[in-house]
Amino acid sequence: MLHGAGGTVMHNLVKNYVVKYLRGLTTLETAEVPLEALDDAAVVGGIVLKSDSHAVKPIFFPGGDIGRLAVSGTVNDIAVLGAEPLALACGLVLEEGLPLTSLERILKSMRDTCAEAGVNVVTGDTKVVEKGSLGGCVINVSGIGRRGEALEKNIEVVKRFRKNFDQRWILDSNLSPGDIIIVSGTVGDHGLAVLSAQEGLTFGSGIMSDTKPLNRLIKRFLSEIGGVVSMKDPTRGGLADALNEFSEKSGVGILINEDKVPVRDDVRAACEMLGLDPFEVGNEGKILIGVVKDKARELLEFLRATEEGKDAEIIGEATADFKGVAMQTVVGGKRIIARPIGDPVPRIC
Ligand code: MG
Repeated sequence: MLHGAGGTVMHNLVKNYVVKYLRGLTTLETAEVPLEALDDAAVVGGIVLKSDSHAVKPIFFPGGDIGRLAVSGTVNDIAVLGAEPLALACGLVLEEGLPLTSLERILKSMRDTCAEAGVNVVTGDTKVVEKGSLGGCVINVSGIGRRGEALEKNIEVVKRFRKNFDQRWILDSNLSPGDIIIVSGTVGDHGLAVLSAQEGLTFGSGIMSDTKPLNRLIKRFLSEIGGVVSMKDPTRGGLADALNEFSEKSGVGILINEDKVPVRDDVRAACEMLGLDPFEVGNEGKILIGVVKDKARELLEFLRATEEGKDAEIIGEATADFKGVAMQTVVGGKRIIARPIGDPVPRIC
């Protein structure tokens, strides 16, 4: 199960097997952002392409369900490259015995989430397998996206502050020392909500998943504020994994202030009780953003004026002083935030 939980174990599986065998197969079209970049999505022929299978267990959880998650996950992975999602494909693998009422509930949720994101499912496939361990169904949503005016405007702003910036997309590898790191809201909510449903736990105040398509929000701030160089949805492996991806791919250090990272009190308490680190627990409705310093305040204020970003915080800064991710703790020390071995909660997405 660790091989599917984000973190180092999964990254090694993907690198040493999937990428080893599937990279660079085609001579027809060289990908601008290829498989081995291991970014949130690829870019080929000017099109952003993403595929994501969802095997969350259980298929209904506080604040969401597998349908909402499947649409949001793919839409968000396309949007964090700066692209606008154009269309989705949906592959359903249904387990024998799944009640049709459950299927309908999931499909309605997918339809509503598509409407929220402003994107349609235009093709797909449906299979049924014998009763076993699927837990109801597995849903693949793939999607394509394209460049829009918002990305162009964003990049113009980046170039105003960084003359030599020559990237066409928002990538994990674009951070430079001095860039500011923002998180759009509280971390750990989704993983804890799914865990509570898996284990039949109640945490008193009711922790809800944050599953949400964020493409419309992203489009607005790219267009109206700009200056964003890197973005990521901190899903499996949580904030800790996403920060390490930024740091490794950009070749910069990242210093985080512990007391700035927003964590709900009930999530923090539940994590303490269960021995989990909220920074390693997955999210499905949050964005980690790297932005040029001169635009950071403005972006923070923009985010805070929105429902999805009301708890946004500036949590740290990219630096040339060291490699990796370090955290200034509340008690005054510094500790390394290593890439987690895997998300502590299994099958969260
Ligand atoms: Mg992602």
